[in-house]
Amino acid sequence: MSRVYNFSAGPAVLPEEVLKEAAQEMLDYRGSGMSVMEMSHRSAAFAQIIQEAEADLRELMQIPKHYKVLFLQGGASQQFAMIPMNLMKNKVADYIVTGQWAKKAWQEAQKYGTANKIASSEDKTFSYIPDCSDLPISPDADYVYICENNTIYGTKFKTLPNTKGKTLVADVSSCFLSEPVDVEKYGVIFGGVQKNVGPAGMVVAIIREDLITEDVLPQTPTMLQYKTHADAGSLYNTPNSYCIYICGKVFKWLKARGGLAAMKEYNEEKARILYDFLDESRMFKGTVERESRSLMNVPFVTGDDALDARFVKEATAAGFVNLKGHRTVGGMRASIYNAMPIEGVKALVAFMKKYEEENR
Ligand SMILES: *Cc1c(COP(=O)(O)O)cnc(C)c1O
Repeated sequence: MSRVYNFSAGPAVLPEEVLKEAAQEMLDYRGSGMSVMEMSHRSAAFAQIIQEAEADLRELMQIPKHYKVLFLQGGASQQFAMIPMNLMKNKVADYIVTGQWAKKAWQEAQKYGTANKIASSEDKTFSYIPDCSDLPISPDADYVYICENNTIYGTKFKTLPNTKGKTLVADVSSCFLSEPVDVEKYGVIFGGVQKNVGPAGMVVAIIREDLITEDVLPQTPTMLQYKTHADAGSLYNTPNSYCIYICGKVFKWLKARGGLAAMKEYNEEKARILYDFLDESRMFKGTVERESRSLMNVPFVTGDDALDARFVKEATAAGFVNLKGHRTVGGMRASIYNAMPIEGVKALVAFMKKYEEENR
């Protein structure tokens, strides 16, 4: 067996300990004689899995009692529709467009009401987070929407926008559980788990209880109403049970590593190693304004397409995989999520140094 350093933006690297444990339990989950995949989602064994997963997540993020935790299917993209369908009582919402995922959410919301773009960083290819301290928030906005960490462009909100009292909704897919959060600053926090937490195909939505009502847009499908899932403890229909099981293991792994404050420190250290190198390199350059840099997704370029392409090729051969940048940005992108060990970042930087020396 040989594992690579996987810098994929998602689906992405998972903790090796978690994968090993899942492998050990694959054929016979704790004496049940079956895999979690084969198990009824109404069984006592699965009830324990989902309840522990929720309890561990609540502990990690210090989620207050008046917030529900939902494990939903359809990934993060499904939320782009569920949010307006469930929250647009006045049919007005404000969107801050800082990248493709925010743009997609904004475009989807336009189907259901007036979705105002109140700020954007598209003028500079989404390479920064705009000043959101005094935006023209709509007086009747049902919520203000952000994508907190922009996976493709590598930017992150360092301070949350001033929503002037309106409910904040945040897509945290690519920074989920990378650092502590103050849940009470948000109405809804949601994250597709395949970036930093688990396998693809599921989203965790943390929603303040007063936002979960029957007063949704007409014709909202039962499956797309938060209340359906909140009332059923995420077991209205068959959930993505194996994904919940793996996420639960990752939550336990995070707790064992000291929780989110410890993860933040570790992630800052990893990111510092890479950004410090990018700042001193004469070949590789980061593409993002310094104050907006993400701890999780680090795009960089050489400025020469041929050098970029050869770098990606040689890196792959050396065991540093999925470094090719997003098709809309070009160059390279290293995603260094929770499960990427610091050794992986150090080895990547050493490889980049060598490449620079050999190609000067
Ligand atoms: C990947 C990603 C999505 C889309 O996730 P899906 O699970 O594929 O729907 C949405 N938002 C952000 C910030 C992402 O990184």
